[in-house]
Amino acid sequence: MTTAPPRPLVAGNWKMNGLASALAEAATVRDALGRAGAGAPEVMICPPATLLAPLAAVAQGSALAMGAQDCHASASGAHTGDISAEMIKDTGATAVIVGHSERRADHGELDRVVRAKAAAAHRAGLTAIVCIGETKGERLAGLTLGVVDRQLAGSLPETVTAANTVVAYEPIWAIGTGLTPSPEDVAEVHQAIRAHLTQRFSPSGGGIRILYGGSVKPANARELLSLPNVNGALVGGASLKADDFLAIIAAYV
Ligand code: PEP
Repeated sequence: MTTAPPRPLVAGNWKMNGLASALAEAATVRDALGRAGAGAPEVMICPPATLLAPLAAVAQGSALAMGAQDCHASASGAHTGDISAEMIKDTGATAVIVGHSERRADHGELDRVVRAKAAAAHRAGLTAIVCIGETKGERLAGLTLGVVDRQLAGSLPETVTAANTVVAYEPIWAIGTGLTPSPEDVAEVHQAIRAHLTQRFSPSGGGIRILYGGSVKPANARELLSLPNVNGALVGGASLKADDFLAIIAAYV
């Protein structure tokens, strides 16, 4: 049985960037989406937590979706500085990124922590965007497929469905560097991720979106996003300016 490819998703990760003035960029994206025809991908901006509520107001009633960048695994409690998936849901967000390599590196997040956060997202009714990817050393040592498979096994909870989970393959060495793997290498890893998902999450594994992330920009978006099993992009730096982000989205139209 062949499954129809899922609707692509282009998600912008603003990371720790953006004051209230940055909402104007989101408004420009929102307005452009309002003019987009059928065939446009789902588009999401993941701002810092400080901008979740104001961005929800900007996006209200539009095609622009909103996600957060991290959540705590618990619903509430004594965790100073953290926010829960339920709190994120309460802002109007529909998704949360978990396991971004910067969280794994800066905060020592292991696969089991990422897995608990993804389960928390599901508990709260959010889509978990689960990030995985190898280091440069692992790539050079030929370990990429094994690393990615191990991260998937450890980071995805049993509650995964095609509706509540997106996997983002982000080679760490490609993030913010201007470097990207070859199209053949991206396709090989995405194929391996698809195989893991279909084997483990039958029958919905074929419908789980797999995003590519790492130095996606207007100049390379069309090639990367046309590869098999690439169901969209997670975009960091190039999502901060509406014009660049819209040029990436335009790869689909
Ligand atoms: C990211 O950090 O999720 C990312 C993809 O960053 P960039 O596009 O800047 O490489």
